Amino acid sequence: MPLPSANPDGTPAGLVALEARLRQDLEWLGWPAKQWMPVREHEGQTLVDVAIVGGGQAGLAAAVGLAQQGIQAVVFDRAREGFEGPWATTARMETLRSPKELLGPAMGLPALSFRAWFESQFGPAEWQALDKIPRLQWMDYLRWYRGVMDVDIRNDSAVTDIRPRPDALVEIDVTHGSATRTVLARRLILATGRDGLGGATIPPFMEGLPRVRWAHSSDELDYASLAGRRVVVIGAGSSSMDSAATALEAGAASVDLLIRRDDLPRINKGKGAGTPGLTQGHFDMPDEYKWRLRHYINVANVPPPRGSTMRVSRHANARFLFGRPILGVKMVDNRLRVATPKGDFDADFVIVATGFRIDWFSRPEYRHIAPHIRAWKDRYQPLPGNEDEELADSPDLGPVFEFQQRTPGECPGLERVHCFCYPAALSHGTVSGDIPNISDGARRLAAGIASLFYREDFEHHYANILAYDEPELLGDEWTPAP
Ligand SMILES: Cc1cc2nc3c(=O)[nH]c(=O)nc-3n(C[C@H](O)[C@H](O)[C@H](O)COP(=O)(O)OP(=O)(O)OC[C@H]3O[C@@H](n4cnc5c(N)ncnc54)[C@H](O)[C@@H]3O)c2cc1C
Repeated sequence: MPLPSANPDGTPAGLVALEARLRQDLEWLGWPAKQWMPVREHEGQTLVDVAIVGGGQAGLAAAVGLAQQGIQAVVFDRAREGFEGPWATTARMETLRSPKELLGPAMGLPALSFRAWFESQFGPAEWQALDKIPRLQWMDYLRWYRGVMDVDIRNDSAVTDIRPRPDALVEIDVTHGSATRTVLARRLILATGRDGLGGATIPPFMEGLPRVRWAHSSDELDYASLAGRRVVVIGAGSSSMDSAATALEAGAASVDLLIRRDDLPRINKGKGAGTPGLTQGHFDMPDEYKWRLRHYINVANVPPPRGSTMRVSRHANARFLFGRPILGVKMVDNRLRVATPKGDFDADFVIVATGFRIDWFSRPEYRHIAPHIRAWKDRYQPLPGNEDEELADSPDLGPVFEFQQRTPGECPGLERVHCFCYPAALSHGTVSGDIPNISDGARRLAAGIASLFYREDFEHHYANILAYDEPELLGDEWTPAP
């Protein structure tokens, strides 16, 4: 029997056939749900039920999850169309780091999975032969996903201010070109990514150095400009390898990886931790378990993928220099001199691959909410020896990923802002950004929002129930016995 993704002669069935099947599946599943939300207005302006900041995979999955619940969402992304998230901009790996089988934002729909999309175009044999998903192909898949699921994304639209109000509205300033308008939404989801509540971690030793001489691994950078130059990469995670390899392939004279540890971690504990029980159960675990687990994974560190590491080591002019924590960096004779306990390293250019940090005060769009968001450090004291800055700074979220006020009453309406980006991990587990469990997180978020809306609009729905008059029985189905 031919596979659904293949024609009877074995050739790939193509995207048109896949899209037809997807439409059929959606219809069979009664998707999207019927419209049940009341249309609300404020001073003549129709309210957006849910606004989403960010049209990456988290924003897409959230919008699709809401559509499944019959709730309309409008997504704003400052990126240009088709370039949301890191994949086609700042990411530099050849393939995704995660295994190809993970279901990502498929939301339980086989025809919406990457595999279905891939096999329909290239055939099942190519799928079997595929090692990991090429990075740009993942972006192509997300572009297709957005189109077939009809997600309402407004690109080139930066959210520049968020102001929760006491009257159950959130004001959102959206800047498009030189114009800024205020959108009124009933709820807002931040699907702003890995660095979604902060930005790149810049080590203090880089402060004051000329910006043309260094970059963070997540910066946009023309790596061709590194040809013939001596490059130092600080760090040993996945992004260090990607930056080092890209510099080497661009013709860097040499790349020195300065690595604080004496060895690279070998085991990805986060991957090992992934089970349905944890995905569904993390939120309900006691604080102590949540902290212990996330802290252990943080301390163990995620090893860079084997392929990414070998992409560096196959270059003779790459050096893995262990046991070299950075003592300082300064300009000497038009070069950067990087001091370590095992000697100095001169470089024409330094790339710091030091990850991301939570710092909502560094994001101007959060200026009104940042002082009021309750973080874990505001109410939880870890056991001695388990201190962890990232965890301490993580937002302490409610069951629907909602922010909570540090001091109740100081920012009414803050709980209408839902945090569906990576920093939700301590509260909810890794269901709000990474590929493995993004559908689980999006379903939880969408179901929770549907429930909150119903409760809020109870009088409206109750009135509808009272007014409901569609008969099931016409009265002619029986004859009463005398
Ligand atoms: C280099 C790199 C490689 C990764 N590789 C993998 C991998 O292989 N497997 C895996 O599971 N995970 C991986 N991740 C982790 C995670 O899957 C990605 O970060 C992914 O992009 C997260 O999706 P997202 O939708 O949460 O955020 P993003 O894809 O980053 O999307 C967030 C969007 O929000 C927009 N935005 C932010 N602020 C605003 C604002 N104020 N106004 C308007 N728009 C805004 C941005 O423009 C962006 O498009 C990787 C992360 C990085 C950085």
